[in-house]
Amino acid sequence: MNLPGQPPKQGARSLDPHLRRYAARTAGMTASEIRALFAVASRPEVVSLAGGMPHLAALPLESLSAEVADVVATEGLVALQYGSAHGVPELREQICDVMALEGINAHPDDVVVTVGSQMGLDMVTRIFCDPGDVVLAEGPSYVGALGSFSAYQAQVVHVGMDADGLVPEALREAIASVERTGRRIKFLYTIPNFHNPAGVTLAVQRRAEVLEICRTHGILVVEDNPYGLLGFDGTTYPALRASDPDNVVYLGSFSKTFAAGLRVGWVLAPHAVREKLVLAAESATLCPPTLNQLIVSRYLSTHDWKGQIKTYREAYRDRRDAAISALEQHMPVGSTWNKPNGGFYVWVTVPEGVDTKAMLPRAITQRVAYASGTGFYADGLGSRQLRISYCYPTPERIREGVRRLANVIKDEVEL
Ligand code: PMP
Repeated sequence: MNLPGQPPKQGARSLDPHLRRYAARTAGMTASEIRALFAVASRPEVVSLAGGMPHLAALPLESLSAEVADVVATEGLVALQYGSAHGVPELREQICDVMALEGINAHPDDVVVTVGSQMGLDMVTRIFCDPGDVVLAEGPSYVGALGSFSAYQAQVVHVGMDADGLVPEALREAIASVERTGRRIKFLYTIPNFHNPAGVTLAVQRRAEVLEICRTHGILVVEDNPYGLLGFDGTTYPALRASDPDNVVYLGSFSKTFAAGLRVGWVLAPHAVREKLVLAAESATLCPPTLNQLIVSRYLSTHDWKGQIKTYREAYRDRRDAAISALEQHMPVGSTWNKPNGGFYVWVTVPEGVDTKAMLPRAITQRVAYASGTGFYADGLGSRQLRISYCYPTPERIREGVRRLANVIKDEVEL
């Protein structure tokens, strides 16, 4: 096999005439299994339980379009102009109000607006990770984060979770085992609330312990929290950033609470880190889109955004209920799953002997798509797991999708 940066082997034929030009790091840039699924999964006859697309039909599109037009009419010369890499000041202040809901007391200067929190992940990895550095991450973990880590040639060491999220003892063990090999741990990447893909939430009583372990070992914490306000009973959990501002970099996003297509997220970082992030952002995009930032800012000041989050929460709770009741009704013996209290995802373990990656083409033939568990691990685990996203289809379609999925699994068990 030819790797980027290496000349093709004698006689080897490559379809890509540029192969020898690519930087070595492109070897770590692989297509996410989930993105590859998008095309098939979006065929109307397929019930897609694969992607985490928000339920945008819940948005007040009419009043929004009037606001968007008004932003252009009244602030067009700013909205359509370059801005600062740091982000629009007014929006950064409003972001501080959003974060206050989870106990964070932040200064707007320490907020850097990003093109979605995905860009925040890329920037954080870019400024901290050299090739070979270790990033600790829950196992399983968010596929897009694993993609960023691998693009910068960082090595992921997974830390176990249970129903209460990251297990502190497993974190201690992971740190000890990496330290024994002499490698450097750059940060712990964690999704404490309504985890993607595991659906679990880090228990409040564990939060201080996780912070303490990281602090003791000189490990930075990167807290990724796009789902924190989507708890079905309205509960919000104290952000890790709230208790340890100097050792936590916090990633936030409007993708799940407002509109993913605007691509507006943010990073809240300790002062010195923030300076580096602004430089990294500048070299990547010059500045985040001003128009989109002003749209979000206008939305936050003129719309009942907390009411909108409640509407989203209720829609997602109904969808979660549909998914769980269909799983209970149809799944074969030997399958297990969790019941999430918020967010978009159920993590399912299928009966022994079933390989969720190998099964996927057969599921698509049966008109249902899901995300195989293997995409959520950097080390090849997850073949007995799959992720169901219940955020997008209607409850009726979810029930039908889970019924089809259960039938596919039953067929595999009987093979
Ligand atoms: N982190 C997590 C855990 C996610 O689930 C997602 C999106 N699915 C992101 C980050 C990226 O979100 P965005 O770039 O849309 O803000």
